[in-house]
Amino acid sequence: MRINVIGGGPAGLYFALLMKKRSPAHEITVLERNGPDDTFGWGVVFSDKTLSYLKENDEETYAEITNRFETWDNVDVVHRDQKITIRGNKFSGIARIELLHILQQRCQALGVDLRFRTEVSAVESLATACDLLVGADGINSTVRQTYELHFQPSLSVRQNKYIWYGTNQLFHGLTLTFRETEAGVFAAHSYKFNKLTSTFIVECDPETWANAGFEGMSEDETRAYLAEVFANDLHGYPLLSNNSKWINFVNVRNEHWSAPGVVLLGDALHTAHFSIGSGTKLALEDAIALYKCFGETEDVETALREFERVRKPIIEEYQEAAYESLVWFENVKDYMSLSPLPFAYKLMTRSKKIDYENLKKRDPQFIAAYEQAGS
Ligand SMILES: Cc1cc2nc3c(=O)[nH]c(=O)nc-3n(C[C@H](O)[C@H](O)[C@H](O)COP(=O)(O)OP(=O)(O)OC[C@H]3O[C@@H](n4cnc5c(N)ncnc54)[C@H](O)[C@@H]3O)c2cc1C
Repeated sequence: MRINVIGGGPAGLYFALLMKKRSPAHEITVLERNGPDDTFGWGVVFSDKTLSYLKENDEETYAEITNRFETWDNVDVVHRDQKITIRGNKFSGIARIELLHILQQRCQALGVDLRFRTEVSAVESLATACDLLVGADGINSTVRQTYELHFQPSLSVRQNKYIWYGTNQLFHGLTLTFRETEAGVFAAHSYKFNKLTSTFIVECDPETWANAGFEGMSEDETRAYLAEVFANDLHGYPLLSNNSKWINFVNVRNEHWSAPGVVLLGDALHTAHFSIGSGTKLALEDAIALYKCFGETEDVETALREFERVRKPIIEEYQEAAYESLVWFENVKDYMSLSPLPFAYKLMTRSKKIDYENLKKRDPQFIAAYEQAGS
């Protein structure tokens, strides 16, 4: 089979390597506009479940990833300068660039043709030159736009602003920090992903953003302002930029998941708010799901139909939970009057995926403290 993949992010690379491993006779080309060392973002997170899928499907990349990652089992909620720890939430983090290098090297070892610094604009001619065209080209997907009559995408831009930073302050667990200032409420989502660095995402509502005056600020002024807001959390470490800019989260959905001989994967196909887990996890799991469908049949249209049938309900459920979570963060100022324990409980149960019983199983001590605080 001849497969062209547009986009050398986690979805495109992982799908390419899995298909090539299964059948070295497949001719697989990945076209990526950036160089092998260019990336945005900082660390990416995986749940234990995602790691078990990675192990099942390719031991080699699993071993490389787990050699380099950091793990934790706590969510820490910081509110009114008090830290509440909730255990039983096992996650791992790795630098996005390290993950990409691992996947690139595995692709190369298996004989996938990786073409960096190759911008694709003529999508249709690439599609006719192969049996399967994979649009793994991220949130602003050209493939999705080219075939929009087939995919029928809907994109909804959310109101909150957020910005991805790194920092050398290590957060040993997924740490959700809330700081109330004169401008409004700021939330930070942070976690370490190697021995020296943490991801540090700051989010705020549009009123807070306007009150703070970010519109007229330079990148350095913005970093300095936010470092001041989170001074008690960063302990003097600066925020590190990797071309970091304020953006709005965009919820991407597609009514249909394929056009004849063309399929979307990862962020091109769907997004889920970062507060519930990373897009990288979903991108890798998409790649596995599509690869499995080609294990059942070599017929492209049958495999693509099966991919949508099997994977779409899982993604829809995930997006629903992610939606509840993003709405919670959009309305966080309404919860700021709660004291730290009830605030942490509300936060943990925001997506309805985790309830009282579930939390009690994960961390009975937290629930005992919560009940005591309420009595
Ligand atoms: C600014 C930013 C920072 C982020 N930081 C983090 C983070 O720190 N942690 C985290 O877990 N998640 C982060 N995310 C989310 C995460 O990057 C995505 O959810 C995940 O990477 C999705 O994987 P993907 O393979 O579907 O797409 P991507 O990783 O976006 O990969 C798509 C690839 O396609 C390439 N491409 C696009 N169009 C073309 C074209 N026409 N021709 C050739 N190549 C093309 C792009 O260069 C890119 O390499 C971030 C997202 C953004 C926008």
